Amino acid sequence: MPYAKCRNPERIAKRFWSKVRLRGADECWPWKAGLIHGYGAFKSCGRNETAHRVAYRLHYGIFDEQEQVHQTCANRTCCNPKHLRVGRLPPEQRFKAFVDVRSKSECWNWTGTISGRNDPQNGGYGSFAIGDGKAVRAHRFAYTLWRGPIPEETLVCHSCDNRKCCNPDHLFLGTQLDNMADCWRKGRGHRPKGELAFASKLTADQVKDIRQRVANGTPRKEMVKKYGVTRQNVGFIVRRESWAHV
Ligand SMILES: [Zn+2]
Ligand SMILES: [Zn+2]
Repeated sequence: MPYAKCRNPERIAKRFWSKVRLRGADECWPWKAGLIHGYGAFKSCGRNETAHRVAYRLHYGIFDEQEQVHQTCANRTCCNPKHLRVGRLPPEQRFKAFVDVRSKSECWNWTGTISGRNDPQNGGYGSFAIGDGKAVRAHRFAYTLWRGPIPEETLVCHSCDNRKCCNPDHLFLGTQLDNMADCWRKGRGHRPKGELAFASKLTADQVKDIRQRVANGTPRKEMVKKYGVTRQNVGFIVRRESWAHV
């Protein structure tokens, strides 16, 4: 019993429920205090736990501590025991809890892990753990979930240029070429934020700029940031293995 060693389990329960907005029997009961990863956080007897887990234990008593407690309402701060179950949710349901669902036209941002924040070329996408240590890109999972299967070797592109977005209306399938063409059509004077790198789309002036700056001691990673190309591509350019004619 987790609280058996505590001096005053009743007091813990009282303190706990004082932090929950108790509402109608079937409504969500949001946590009023601090959050961790979007879940309510509660500390007692030197243990840090999610609030809904504590709510489940206080209400239903002992359960297998290896098991996860999850909300059937997909509201991560909800502590209503009626909305809590033990066991792992299917990925589709866990997924929805990480998407900030808004109106049809707005972006639905991923609120979970973002991959490769410092990688302007391939990073910045939501990452969703589907289990067995595997993770997939959140917008791809969103496409499969709400639109349908993705054919092999097909990209899922954003019409909104927001890599965190999981709104199915902002996602479309594309081959690499489609993706590039679409990104360039939308151009708007900035580098396209497609799923792939478009090092070949640098201008001759930009290539010259990269070579000159690197020769003058500018760190290559600054070029990676500035032009959104990979480190490897900067290397190719500097060594004239690409853009040799410039
Ligand atoms: Zn709820
Ligand atoms: Zn969007």
